[in-house]
Amino acid sequence: MSKPRFIFVTGGVCSGLGKGIVAASIGAILKAADFRVFSLKFDPYLNVDPGTMSPYQHGEVYVLRDGTETDLDLGHYERFLDVNLTAESNLTTGQVYQEVIGKERKGTFLGKTIQVIPHITDAIKKRIYYTAESSKADFLIMEIGGTVGDIEGEPFLEAARQLRQEVGPQNALYVHVALLPYLKTSHELKTKPVQASVRELRRLGIQPEIIIARADYPIKKEHLEKIALFCDVPLEAVFPATTSKSIYEVPLNLEQKNISQIIFKQFGIVKKPNLHSWNTLVRRIKHPTREVSIGMVGKYTSLGDAYLSVTEALNSAVYHHNAKMRLQWIDAESLEKKDEREWNALKRVDGIVIPGGFGTRGTEGKIAAAKYARENKVPYLGLCLGMQIATIEFARSILKTKNVNSTEFDPKSANPVIHIMPDQEKKLLKREYGASMRLGSWKCRLVKDSLSFKAYGVDDIEERHRHRYEFNNTYREQLEAAGLRIAGTTPDGLLVEIIEIKDHPWFVGVQFHPEFQSRPLRPHPLFREFVRACLNK
Ligand code: GLN
Repeated sequence: MSKPRFIFVTGGVCSGLGKGIVAASIGAILKAADFRVFSLKFDPYLNVDPGTMSPYQHGEVYVLRDGTETDLDLGHYERFLDVNLTAESNLTTGQVYQEVIGKERKGTFLGKTIQVIPHITDAIKKRIYYTAESSKADFLIMEIGGTVGDIEGEPFLEAARQLRQEVGPQNALYVHVALLPYLKTSHELKTKPVQASVRELRRLGIQPEIIIARADYPIKKEHLEKIALFCDVPLEAVFPATTSKSIYEVPLNLEQKNISQIIFKQFGIVKKPNLHSWNTLVRRIKHPTREVSIGMVGKYTSLGDAYLSVTEALNSAVYHHNAKMRLQWIDAESLEKKDEREWNALKRVDGIVIPGGFGTRGTEGKIAAAKYARENKVPYLGLCLGMQIATIEFARSILKTKNVNSTEFDPKSANPVIHIMPDQEKKLLKREYGASMRLGSWKCRLVKDSLSFKAYGVDDIEERHRHRYEFNNTYREQLEAAGLRIAGTTPDGLLVEIIEIKDHPWFVGVQFHPEFQSRPLRPHPLFREFVRACLNK
């Protein structure tokens, strides 16, 4: 296809509706019709860098191949579309203003008055055209974060309106996702808030072609008819989307009602998507033949979103094995305090995952969990911090001293088996906080006969990183002689990327974050083999 097509997805009534999942599902459907799809998410908040936002407030920091730190929605897009997104895939209000004000400071605008319209909206449109072109996508799906009616979102909606004027209605489409609340007293769903949110959109000059009606309860035909009538949308373009058990059902549910045909009609395309692999996935999710329990030892245990990509990667691996996962959140600090209930929970799981993390809190509990996994031959997967924890634990066991640590947790440790490499330290001293992190995709060479090599089946891999500390090479020989396998390093051999424990059925720690490259239709080899080991335990 020569010209890119633009699809905007807006949200109405409230946030948290799964607008991103709907947008990503539409993308998955288009991809299943052999189109190239790329996504661009607009975040109306003022932060310039979502990577520095607290995971407490915001869920995990998702890392792209090019090292961009972004928010977890981009993870959904990468998983559903099976593409590698880039820095161009996310735009915040802060970034737009920074760019426009930067130009103003340089005098680019020759002293003109700088305004939201046209300067901010032009900058947004420029970015849309640029992303469409650089990604070479047939379809660019753009989710506008927040809810229609939010003050912050207006420049993005205005840019969306203008863009359609520029490219013509045959090249742009608006999808609106809105909630039908349920009233307990009258046992019914209400359509009025949806109508009001569409009215608000129309006030801004946007008439959606497709409305996705979200609800937690079954949506009746009369609700859809009412929405169609009041919002001036054909009935076949109003889609019911009741909360489904698995997010991976959403593409199938939308396509069951022929959403692709409404979209293609608008763009003048004749095509049918092939959702066979999604069907197979959902069949597996719905009909598991066995169960596996995985213990995730972490710090923000009350906040599953902080580890979203890890749980999704585990899920995909579990589905691959036709199984169902019982995910047990285990609080590292409770383990540290020798809480009996928490320890009993840990002892019951089939496998242990220690995900990424920062800071000292709970680390001794994590070290205790790694020790338990090593001594009791429980499958172990350590992700970034989880690899460092396993290294500390193993080193403590052979050096027979507790004075082994990462300099992150004990800057004065006598045996810093995990430390900051000297050239990185200089950057840290200069307080270039972000700059001191190893970010994005790095090449890694695997060692034959390792568990990792068996899982990947190739010599060279690339994985995404986000950390400051590294395995300390001073201890390499000593630890290897004692039974630690260095299973992967950077191709120059300088940075240790994977450790394994030789005398163990499956114990792997990786300095990177494999979870960011796992896809529902293509589970990551390490997660797949970890889950296999758990099932065989
Ligand atoms: N805190 C560790 C480091 O900075 C691990 C980071 C992580 O797990 N992402 O090296």
